[in-house]
Order: sequence, then structure tokens, then C-alpha cells
Amino acid sequence: MILAIASGKGGTGKTTVAVSLALSLAEWHPLFLDCDVEEPNAALFLRPELTESRKVGQLIPVVDEEHCTHCGRCAKVCEYHAIAVIGTQVLVFPELCHGCGSCMRQCPENAIHEELNVLGTLEQGWAGTVEFAQGMLNVGEALAVPVIRQLKQWAIPPEGSNRPVILDAPPGAACPVVETLRGADAVLLVTEPTPFGLHDLRAAVQVSREVEASRGMSLPIAVVINRAGVGDAGVEAYCAAEGLPILLRIPLERAIAEGIARGETLVSIHPEYQPALAGLWDTLAARVRLGG
Ligand code: SF4
Ligand code: SF4
Repeated sequence: MILAIASGKGGTGKTTVAVSLALSLAEWHPLFLDCDVEEPNAALFLRPELTESRKVGQLIPVVDEEHCTHCGRCAKVCEYHAIAVIGTQVLVFPELCHGCGSCMRQCPENAIHEELNVLGTLEQGWAGTVEFAQGMLNVGEALAVPVIRQLKQWAIPPEGSNRPVILDAPPGAACPVVETLRGADAVLLVTEPTPFGLHDLRAAVQVSREVEASRGMSLPIAVVINRAGVGDAGVEAYCAAEGLPILLRIPLERAIAEGIARGETLVSIHPEYQPALAGLWDTLAARVRLGG
């Protein structure tokens, strides 16, 4: 099973849950992907030995001025307004380019070729029996989606994996989260029982359901409540109304907060969470097998 762990906002404990879930499944040699490419921090807790890395990016058009007749065809076919012809100049805006190649294919003069615009780095290695991979977007780059896509293509075998695969999604509910959720078998949303937590949980559920609708088959969604005991009952009521099972409640506890701040994991602070998290995995895997 490929499980994406997401949250509508940062700071809910998403990575805390993802890391400890991977450690709870260690005997199955899980694959852990840190897809939060703008701010990957799972390595701080898993401390993997990284043995491989590669630069990743996106192909962008480069215009050969000698052959360009400034006909404007490339600008007309670009749906993203990433290329413009102004007088005798052709301007490419890499931050808008989706690398679709239409402009190159449609150029009547064959005056366009593609070059790699490096966006970031992928790294891979092992933390004990947990295989680990992460993507890191270069500072100043805005295109997280291609880095996440290439991280998944690089690390997850094309034929799928018999091992557990855990995707630690970026926070929020925008395109990088959608890209992370694509191809997942189930989604685990981590939230906190506050009005802010409820607001962001709603957004995360909506995104998950949009991904579910786009793939045309069931995408089981479940919830973990972190810092249980604070706030109000709004999240519990929402989950009940929406039919979202709450598979784990982690209380607000000083020992957990202090341990996490020191770079410890939930299961090293409280080993009793290990069977609870393994049970959570089994519950979700059973739902996936039953089709939702
Ligand atoms: S389509 Fe080709 S020839 Fe026409 S403006 Fe673009 S690059 Fe130049
Ligand atoms: S590759 Fe696609 S998105 Fe990029 S400039 Fe060409 S047509 Fe536009």
C-alpha cells in the first residue's frame, strides 16, 4: 500500500506521525518519501545514511535566434503564457513553463530545443531498515510539483511495491499536495482539535476527494488527531458527519513535545505507539483491499 500522510497546514505533527509509522513497520522494510520538497525535515528524525543523489529539473525551451523568424506560433500554442514574442525577441519565462514541449513541436523553423532547468536535488539512502528518499527544491525556485513527481518516479518502483510506502506530503492543500496524493492508495490526515485545525482539515479532505474523483476509484481517508485534549469537539463532530474514521489520538503531552524538539520520535518517546501505529496501517490496508 502507498499511504500519503497530509495535513491542511504545517505544524500539526504530520511528519511526527509519518516517521513513527515508518519505524513501526520497520520489519517490512518500508519506503519513506519526504515529499515536502520546500522544507524536508523527516531526515532530522530518521537520520538516514544518504548514498545517492541526483539533480532534477524540467526541460524548458531555448530559442535559436539565428533560425527564428519571430512568427509568434510558439507564443500562440503555449497555454501557460510561458513564452512571448515581442518584436524580434522571444522571451521564455521558466517559472511559468510546464515543460510540455508544444512550442518546440509547433515551431515551423525547428528553432527551439530544450535544456534542463535544474530545480532541485533528490537524495536516497537507508535509516536502518527504512529506505528513505527526499527531494529538495533549490532556494528561490517555485516549482515544487516537478520535483515531487520525479522523486516518486525515482524512488517508487514502476511496478509498485510490496513493501509499505509512506509519502510525507507538503503542508497545505495546493498543487504539491495533489501531486503527492496522486497514485496513493489511501490518505491519512493529521490534524489538531481546534477551529484552525478543523478549517485546514476540511481543505485537506476536499483535496483528497478531488484526487479520488479524478482517478475514478475509491481513496480511503482516515484521520489522526494530534494534541488531543485541547480545543473543542469540532473536529470529532466533523469526522463523524463525514464518515472519516479517527484511527489514533495523540494527547498534548509535555514529554512528547520536548522529545520531538530534541529530534526524538514518538515511538522512541512512547514505544507503546508502535503497535498502535502498526494497527492503524493494517486497518487502512484492509480498507484498501475492500475498496474503501
Ligand atoms: S515558433 Fe519558432 S520561429 Fe516562430 S517565433 Fe517561435 S521560435 Fe521563432
Ligand atoms: S514547453 Fe510548453 S509550457 Fe513551456 S513554453 Fe513551451 S509550450 Fe509553453
